[in-house]
This record gives sequence, C-alpha cells and structure tokens, in this order.
Amino acid sequence: MTAATLTIDLAALRANWRKLADKAAPAECAAVVKADAYGCGIEPCVRALRAEGARVFFVARLSEGIRARAAAPEAVIYVLDGLTPGSGGALRAAKLRPTLCSMPEIVEWAASGGGPAALHFDTGMNRLGLAPSEAGAALAALGAPPTLVMSHFISSEIAGSPDNARQIEAFEHLRSICENVPLSISNSSGIFLSCKPFFHLVRPGYALYGGNPTPDAPNPMRPVVALDVPILQTRRIEPGDRVGYNGQWTAPRPTRIAVIAAGYADGIPRGASGTGARPGVEVAVGGKRCPIVGRVSMDLIAIDATDAPDDAVTRGASVELLGATVGVDEFGERSGTIGYEILTGLGRRYERVYRD
Ligand SMILES: *Cc1c(COP(=O)(O)O)cnc(C)c1O
Repeated sequence: MTAATLTIDLAALRANWRKLADKAAPAECAAVVKADAYGCGIEPCVRALRAEGARVFFVARLSEGIRARAAAPEAVIYVLDGLTPGSGGALRAAKLRPTLCSMPEIVEWAASGGGPAALHFDTGMNRLGLAPSEAGAALAALGAPPTLVMSHFISSEIAGSPDNARQIEAFEHLRSICENVPLSISNSSGIFLSCKPFFHLVRPGYALYGGNPTPDAPNPMRPVVALDVPILQTRRIEPGDRVGYNGQWTAPRPTRIAVIAAGYADGIPRGASGTGARPGVEVAVGGKRCPIVGRVSMDLIAIDATDAPDDAVTRGASVELLGATVGVDEFGERSGTIGYEILTGLGRRYERVYRD
C-alpha cells in the first residue's frame, strides 16, 4: 500500500508565477516563500521559481531566509520579520535584507553596519510597519536609500473594499517622500485589482501555490498540491449507527464507510468533521464526491463512501483529499478556515513527491 502522499506540481507552480509576472509586467514579480513555501517545501519551490525567472523572494523568519539563501545563492531575499534584536550580523552573513518596520530597527541596523534593506510602512493593518508620518525620520536614520519601500493590503481579496483605495492613497503619498525608491504593496489578490496597484514590485504568495486570489470568481491559478490518502478499512453500517468520537454523526441509511490514514495530526482540521450540526468536507473517492462523517481524529478520518464506485472503496485504494475535485480554497472554507491555513498546516507524515 502506498502511504499518504502529498504531490507538489512544480510545473504548475512555475506556470502560476509566470502568469502573475505577465499580469504585473512591467512591474517585477517576486515570490513569497514564507512558512516553508506555504507548506510546499522552501528549497524545491525556490529552485523552481528561480529557474522560471524569479529574482526576489520574501520570507518571514531569519531561519527561512538562511534556507532560501542556500537554494538561491544569487537571489535578493527579504525577511519580513525585519531586524529582530541582535540579528544584524546573521542577516548580513547570509546576504539577507530586513524589511525594517520601526525606528528602533532602523537605528540598530544602521549602527550595526547597515546594508541593503527595505522600509515597511503600515497603511492600515496596525500590525508591522512604520507610520507614514515617520517617513522623513526613517530615511534620515537609515542613512542610505532603502532598496524597497513596501506596505501590505488588509482586504485586497475583496475587490470592492474601500480599504484598498484608502491604503493605495496613503502609499501614493509615500512615493512623493521616497523618491527614486522601488515601491511594493500588492500581494496575490492585489495583482487582480482592476486599479493595478503594481508599482515596481508585486509580492504574491498564495496564488503561486494554487490558491484563488479572486474568491468571488473562478480560480485563475493552476492547482499545485494534491493529497492522496489510502483506505485502511471499509465497513458497512446500519441506519442509526454512529461514527467516530462522541458519536457525532448518525447514518441515515445503510452506509459504506471508508476509514483513511490521515487526521488532525496531519493538518486536516477538526472543522472538516461531519456531524449532525454541520456536513463534513467532501473528498473524492474514485472521482465521486463523498463527505467526511464523524469527527476527524488524530490519525484517522471516516468517509461516507456509499455512492462511490465499488472498486474505489477497497483496502489500500487512495482517496483524494486535495486535488482537481476539491481544492485548498473549498477545503478551507468548508472547514471553517481559509485555504492558507490548510496549505501551511500540511503535515510532516506525508510522503512528499515533487513533479516537474
Ligand atoms: C504573506 C505576505 C504576502 C503574500 O500574501 P499572499 O496573500 O499569500 O499573496 C505579501 N506581503 C506580505 C508582507 C506578507 O506578509
């Protein structure tokens, strides 16, 4: 029996980057590879994106930057955490650029030797970043011009949100203060806004990995991730029989159950469970959509495979949890979360296969 297998389609990843790069041109298209490239594996993804033409990468942590650097010796790599206290030497040693987020970071970076760095301004999230009113002081304290001035959208996946225009206006104002410095505000969804807020550089993450950057329209991206999980056992139960911890799902008809080798320890959220109160997430058994029934447990999930073709419901056969039938967006939404959390939570126990 094959183990539960996570297949990462690097050709689709490259095609997705190419599509976003073409859309954003003449702005440059970077690639966000934080959180282990959204669960897809930082080294193989960086190498594939590098081969397709990406020259600028963003990670969250210093440790991720060091891994990305090993995979792309010549690339420009920004660290979104900025300068954590005392990390200047380690950043410079790996030729990483911090996206400096506050005056104390700028002062420490300059005092510890400086070097290429971005300035990150907060235009509405109240998370990381300098206030736009600090721009003059920030430029003066940095000494040398920043290599990038950036901000981040809070609602770009909602095309009609007034937040977008408000943030773009605040960012436009920074343009006049930071003359001759490349600017960047758009994440994946920002690349699909009709006002094209591309400036000099766009920073897609989710869409590269097949997530839908336009949640109210069909997904323009190619799926990158497929997850196939083997059936460990099948059983037939009678109407009124219950399934899983606390018996939260009751069979309404004679039902054929398939039990598969994945659970919440593999990153399948308990929110995907099927109970009397809420239908379970659907998966594909022999091409037929079948719901999860009962609670997702640590290592196991039960599926109502009654309507699937008989030859697909056998011990050792594979069930598709993610793939062409059900993608990361649907899986996330029906689990009460988002596709981002499904991707970045993908477990360590899967056998990983890279295709290109
Ligand atoms: C994560 C992140 C991105 C990428 O966002 P997606 O929605 O995944 O495209 C871009 N910029 C910053 C600052 C981020 O934190």
